Amino acid sequence: AERIRIQSWEGPGRTSDGHAVSILANVQDGAGARSAATTAAEGVGLFRTELCFLDRDSEPGVDEQAEIYGEVLDAFAGRKVVIRTLDAGSDKPLRFANHAEEANPALGVRGIRIAEQNPGILSRQLDAVAAAAKQTQSQPWVMAPMISTPAEAESFAAEVRARGLVPGVMVEVPAAALLADRLLRHVDFLSIGTNDLAQYTMAADRMSSDLASLTDPWQPAVLALVARTAEAGIAAGKPVGVCGEAAADPLLACVLIGLGVTSLSCAGAAVSGVGAKVGSVSLDECRRAAEDVLATSDPAEARAAAVRVLGA
Ligand code: PEP
Ligand code: MG
Repeated sequence: AERIRIQSWEGPGRTSDGHAVSILANVQDGAGARSAATTAAEGVGLFRTELCFLDRDSEPGVDEQAEIYGEVLDAFAGRKVVIRTLDAGSDKPLRFANHAEEANPALGVRGIRIAEQNPGILSRQLDAVAAAAKQTQSQPWVMAPMISTPAEAESFAAEVRARGLVPGVMVEVPAAALLADRLLRHVDFLSIGTNDLAQYTMAADRMSSDLASLTDPWQPAVLALVARTAEAGIAAGKPVGVCGEAAADPLLACVLIGLGVTSLSCAGAAVSGVGAKVGSVSLDECRRAAEDVLATSDPAEARAAAVRVLGA
């Protein structure tokens, strides 16, 4: 019976007692968005724009970028779409934006930091997003990756608002989680990238399989930073989502809801499993699980604590 229910989950996302949590899809191009649109995903929580350009030697022009972004907006017409500006560098280097040689690329010029080194690259991308929004009559939210300081959030937000778009930033660096309340003075929403947040919190390369137990999103230290970020969102009355791999784990998704996050974005293939599990537990159970998880000392203990309250 459980299996049938999971396959037939139709959304929208809500707990068994009716607390709404948007369940969204991560996409990387128009084709991926059209495929995600056939799931029960309520929208796109993370459009990784850099993945459209991994094979390019030169920066695509504004018109070409607008056309590509418009495909994703069209696939989710009338629904929420969060577009992330180029997260170039480290595990996703772009030849037209990154230096080939960096001693420590994960700690180097990546994410929003490329804007400083490549004058105009961010404003051209935002011009393309604004053009795509106009052409498709949609209102995308736009967020920056790898934000480390409130000043970065402030200047990004100004550029986004100047084009009539809704600004947010990703929380992927411990410094951003620690100052989430100050980031929220400048932006309308936050989105937690647990893949990088785990990498930088645990000082362990997310690409290293030898270190996978350190970068486990169930690490209580990572979840403590998620909790702090979500609390800042609640205090500011602004949405805080999770768009890293953590949101694709149905049990962890429930814990994230208990920590206070308002949306979950995961691969399209994970959407119904997450939606079905969320629909089987109450908000109060999610909160109790979250509290127990935060009191643990390692990922295995954290998962066991969640299972005790929420079932496997
Ligand atoms: C993350 O870091 O969790 C995230 C969603 O971004 P990416 O995986 O693209 O770095
Ligand atoms: Mg990231």
